[in-house]
Amino acid sequence: MADRAVRIAACTCSRCGAELDGLDNDRIFTCRRCSIGFDVFTEPFRIHPIRFVEPVLREPAPLIYLPIWQFLIRAEIHGNDSSRLEKAKTVLPESLLVIAFKMHGWSVFGNLNLLYANRRVDLKYAEGVSRPLVGCRRTGLAAQSLVDYILLAAIDRTVDVTGLTLEIHTDQLLLLGYPYYELDSRLKDAVSGDEFRCIAVDDLAEIRAIEAGTSRD
Ligand SMILES: [Zn+2]
Repeated sequence: MADRAVRIAACTCSRCGAELDGLDNDRIFTCRRCSIGFDVFTEPFRIHPIRFVEPVLREPAPLIYLPIWQFLIRAEIHGNDSSRLEKAKTVLPESLLVIAFKMHGWSVFGNLNLLYANRRVDLKYAEGVSRPLVGCRRTGLAAQSLVDYILLAAIDRTVDVTGLTLEIHTDQLLLLGYPYYELDSRLKDAVSGDEFRCIAVDDLAEIRAIEAGTSRD
């Protein structure tokens, strides 16, 4: 006898009835028409708004959009060491990105979450974008569970956090379609210019195939 239940979810949008986009191992399926994502592992499906980020840099290369969670952060730091406290406060971000696509080899390719936590870039959302967003392997809740660790690790790069107390409140949660240029074997962040190896992204071929399907429509 099977020891777990398998639920077959209807892969259509509950708002508009369109077929949802998603890969086999995705946790979030998305409606390109409504720009929303559905967590198909919750009952009822938890709905997340999607925003596509406007590329800032221009490159003569194809763009690909990968899913990243964005949290608005309200954080307070307490402690007795006033000099370290002041320094730590200056590096507290107002929002935090946690990648939702599957990436491996942090030790080789670098930790993208930490990289994003340590830089200040104003993200602009593109208006009226209707395109697929797939490859979302991490739920919003799973991403949220990483927020404390990422913030602490990011601050610790600037100031020793030993003995300091961090109080973190996370607010709005958005699923971003984040733009990267495909340059040979590298992906280049179309906002910050940071680059990493394509090989680090597990689902890139499938994501690329879905995006290619869109441009043929
Ligand atoms: Zn829809």
